Amino acid sequence: MPRPSPLDVYALLDKSNCGECGVETCMAYAADLLERKLRLEDCTHLMQDPKQKKKYNKLKEMLMPPQRPVRIGVGEKEVIIGGEEVLMRHQLTYYNQTAFFLQLADNQEDLVEAIKYLDDLTIERIGDILKIQGIALRCVSKDGEVFKNAAKKAAENTDLPIMLCCMEPEFLIGAATEIKDKKPALYAATKDTWEQLGTFAVQNNLPIVLSTPTSDLDELMSLSATLQKLGSNEIILDPGTFFGQGGISVTYDNIAQLRIAGINNENKNAGWPIMGVPAAYWTQIVDVKEEDLWKAKYQEVIMGAIMVSEAASLLVLNTGQKKEDIWALLALMTLRQSIYSDPRIYPSVEEGIYEVGEPNENSPIFVTSNYRLTKIPVELDIKAANLDAYLLVSDSEGIGIESSVAGGQFNAESIAETVKKFNIFDKVNHRILIIPGMAARLSGTLEDEADCVVLVGPRDSSGIGDYMNKMWTPEEYMKEYADR
Ligand code: SF4
Repeated sequence: MPRPSPLDVYALLDKSNCGECGVETCMAYAADLLERKLRLEDCTHLMQDPKQKKKYNKLKEMLMPPQRPVRIGVGEKEVIIGGEEVLMRHQLTYYNQTAFFLQLADNQEDLVEAIKYLDDLTIERIGDILKIQGIALRCVSKDGEVFKNAAKKAAENTDLPIMLCCMEPEFLIGAATEIKDKKPALYAATKDTWEQLGTFAVQNNLPIVLSTPTSDLDELMSLSATLQKLGSNEIILDPGTFFGQGGISVTYDNIAQLRIAGINNENKNAGWPIMGVPAAYWTQIVDVKEEDLWKAKYQEVIMGAIMVSEAASLLVLNTGQKKEDIWALLALMTLRQSIYSDPRIYPSVEEGIYEVGEPNENSPIFVTSNYRLTKIPVELDIKAANLDAYLLVSDSEGIGIESSVAGGQFNAESIAETVKKFNIFDKVNHRILIIPGMAARLSGTLEDEADCVVLVGPRDSSGIGDYMNKMWTPEEYMKEYADR
């Protein structure tokens, strides 16, 4: 089905332009709805006027991506997986990044501490805060009571979404009943347990994972069709994760086949989020010697990386649950960050004044572009040089210095406008701007446009510390400015 246009959506709205959805017009709402910045539920008219029910249903169907989205958890940390419209990111964009769920055992002694560590875990990278999305609580004890109590403990100690993992349906239902208000995902229903678990999932409106331990995709599709008939509308597919000889190719191939069937061929049984379990390494490859533990962790992380690059919707990981294994998450989150950046948007930041350290009226003003991968390294280099400074970010349409100077997006007039717009010189007792070395040719015009002294800084911001030691003599420059 071709992607609907804003006009297709607009045709089904009541066109009152009431603004109750948070944007001024129904047309703006239609565009934001398609970009998933707003939800159908945000239009009060669609939701509250019974006469609009038919239109609501039509819109819902029209907007449903071929790979349907599934929500796990509740509240701010709820995670949405799947919901993709395209096979390749460059065809449009990916909307929901691979969710990382860290596996914990129901009988581990430090369960609460481990949960709290994962709950707090954040990594900042080029301006993004990277986090894990959930906990996969595994029934290692093989005891229903222990599993149920561990589920309660998990729910009490974190708002992260929880996946309950147990192949014994009674234990799984017992634990899920305790924490169903947290909307946990159930792992997993097989050909032997689908009816009991599927009925429970439908009655309680919970997402359910369908699993085929033998990697039989026909069996998985048949389970999916059956669960949908039962009334389930939140299904996750686990085609299996296999290590050892030939395992990686089977695993990769299964994910690829399901994505093609679901997204490209719009096969309704395959059109659900797909998960992988790199943590399965630790159950499939037994007898890992103490001195080979690091190799085992590598194997798991390599599998995780393969799955992220194949745009799997959710991974269950074991390595990374402890502080000393932070490298594993750092690698996988970095890869994920690259793959899930929106190819339609230059990575940019807001123009304006950014304070580095504790600047005062004597502090220097550095000027840079709003390309995120320029602004953030410059900021870090100023910090690394132990400087308290103002960083004035001018809108270059998200393009880096060299290209935007050449293309005209970073120019003397626009920088001078930013200077005026944010009154940067009101913050200091000088009128000096330090521009990047690569923008040297703008200096003369900028001095006239912004009525200031322009210093040409280093070509590479890593040289800012040395540059300032040698060049920062504001009194001299201001004397020259006064004598002009
Ligand atoms: S709430 Fe609905 S009717 Fe009102 S402006 Fe938004 S989309 Fe239009």
